[in-house]
Amino acid sequence: MKRLVLASNNPGKIREFRELLAPLDLDVVPQGELGIAEAAEPHATFVENALAKARHAARRARLPALADDSGICVAALDGEPGVHSARFAGEPTSDARNNEKLVALLQEQPDRRAHYYCVIVLVRHADDPEPLIAEGRWDGEVIATPRGSGGFGYDPHFLLPDLGRTAAELAPEEKHALSHRGQALRRLLAALRERG
Ligand code: IMP
Repeated sequence: MKRLVLASNNPGKIREFRELLAPLDLDVVPQGELGIAEAAEPHATFVENALAKARHAARRARLPALADDSGICVAALDGEPGVHSARFAGEPTSDARNNEKLVALLQEQPDRRAHYYCVIVLVRHADDPEPLIAEGRWDGEVIATPRGSGGFGYDPHFLLPDLGRTAAELAPEEKHALSHRGQALRRLLAALRERG
């Protein structure tokens, strides 16, 4: 079984990766279980942050590493919180305070469009010159009143207009079939198969 370090300490993300990767013959170890602290995410783009996280985890674990950098990009906020989604309301990170801040900023804003964006990077080792990179995007709208108890982060406020449900009201398999993370991971796995 191939061992892989997952460059995340976010319990919601770790759970989703476990579910998404369950069918594969992989031993996916979250970096926290190896005593690896979070990498700095100083960059302005998701892809640069995902690469930094993957290289950091691979270097410390001496294993191949999978990293995801993701966030919610709100049209009326010029794409914010974007790469700042995790710490939108400051430290310590809090989904509740992030959501409160987002809802407050969009009060009386008629344009509710938003999308989740995710970049996933796989490096075979810390200095891998050919990282595999895949992205996914999921469009929706921000609603003021939270609904649902699934998912994590901004999901209770992220409405899928076509379904009339929030991401937090979807079963895990439904979310994975549609989500930015599900899309990115399926593309990454296809690229991995192509590479052999
Ligand atoms: P990262 O760990 O720096 O990539 O931050 C990702 C942040 O974006 C999370 O902490 C959430 O706030 C938000 N986010 C990313 N993906 C999701 C999702 O699937 N549902 C809800 N929030 C998400």
